[in-house]
Amino acid sequence: MTGGNAIRGTRVGSGPMGESERGESAPRHRVSYWCANNHESRPSFALDAEEPESWDCPRCGLPAGRDQAAPPAPPRNEPYKTHLAYVKERRSDADGEAILAEALAKLRAQREGDF
Ligand SMILES: [Zn+2]
Repeated sequence: MTGGNAIRGTRVGSGPMGESERGESAPRHRVSYWCANNHESRPSFALDAEEPESWDCPRCGLPAGRDQAAPPAPPRNEPYKTHLAYVKERRSDADGEAILAEALAKLRAQREGDF
């Protein structure tokens, strides 16, 4: 039974402060990001990974940047578009396409007439 004790001993003895036990053997570093609401998020990245320019704030979802003094501007805010607004928009899109197609057809017809 001395063999079992020896294995156990080396396992406990390995790693300072037991850090290896928490699975943080891969070197990582934390990067701070700030969103427009001044929320700080600190995701960690592997040391050899390139940290992204921006990070989505986990609290409010706005893009967050590395520079606390100049966080990225929030995306254009069209927050609660109603269903009706969507329908109108889509319909006017369709109308626009129809008008365009019609205009092109007329244009072609005119050109053909000119020649
Ligand atoms: Zn935020």
